Amino acid sequence: QAKDAGRGNFAYYSEAMTLAARERIELEARLRKVIEQQELRVFYQAQVAAASGRIVGAEALVRWQYPDGQLIAPGHFIPAAESSGQIVALGEWVLAETCRQGRAWQDAGLPPLTLAVNVSPHQFRSSDMNALVARILKKTGFPAKYLELELTESGLMDNQTKVMGILNDLRAQGVRLAIDDFGTGYSSLAYLKRFPLDVLKIDKSFIDDIPHSQYDMEITATIIAMGRTLGFKVLAEGVETTAQLTFLKTKGCDYYQGYLKYKPMPSDIFAELLRQTARPPR
Ligand code: C2E
Ligand code: MG
Ligand code: MG
Ligand code: MG
Repeated sequence: QAKDAGRGNFAYYSEAMTLAARERIELEARLRKVIEQQELRVFYQAQVAAASGRIVGAEALVRWQYPDGQLIAPGHFIPAAESSGQIVALGEWVLAETCRQGRAWQDAGLPPLTLAVNVSPHQFRSSDMNALVARILKKTGFPAKYLELELTESGLMDNQTKVMGILNDLRAQGVRLAIDDFGTGYSSLAYLKRFPLDVLKIDKSFIDDIPHSQYDMEITATIIAMGRTLGFKVLAEGVETTAQLTFLKTKGCDYYQGYLKYKPMPSDIFAELLRQTARPPR
């Protein structure tokens, strides 16, 4: 009896695994075509100066849009793209598309703003990151100083000498560098202070329970103070309430992103927002 049940379980799991594996393979096969078939879209989420409320930049966030219009969030395909290596081609497309769009907005007379692009650890370590960025900036004519690359702690804490070299090369091009999801990985403070970074992005998980968690409030305040001491600008991710924003302002947080003010939006709607909020430079 037990044996039968065991065998039954085995059959069940093995079937489930086959299904998962097949879905994975199908997803990977589809991902290969998705770029050529132009099913990827870049959405833009405003980055806001905490003190003034002004839009100072935007983060480029990829979506997969099926021909029927359905949008797939990156959480559903970035991991598969990452493990299959397709993230390199996908990331290259997002970077090129964002720089093209940024240049088009500048040409259309919209106020210049920083555009931040996520770089996966796999992509970051692929040998020619620096050359790729140079090539895309040249091709699109987007000024390097308006491009910000978002790197994760796991991507940065790998091979220190190599990472430092890539960061310095990118910095020499005039590109800005941000550390994304800060606090969720294993950053070494010793390296953090040596890395040529511009922005530290506090992960949403620290912001979520403000103002109810004293612990998260203290951690967030400490990260802001530390980031500023190290000479970084500090941005809080996932700000959804006025109470969170008020807290961040009193602690000296420079920028924020969040549903409180702006969700990620398609490029044409974001451009319209820029037009409406356009004011003379400071
Ligand atoms: P991320 O880089 O940390 O991006 C922030 C995520 O938080 C975005 O999710 C954004 O829509 C979401 N978010 C922003 N404000 C709020 C808020 O107030 N509340 C809530 N609940 N969420 C908020 P999204 O667009 O689903 O992207 C998820 C992750 O996928 C990104 O996290 C990033 O790690 C990855 N990703 C997105 N686009 C790319 C890309 O082009 N390349 C790579 N390598 N990864 C990407
Ligand atoms: Mg990001
Ligand atoms: Mg993040
Ligand atoms: Mg995140």
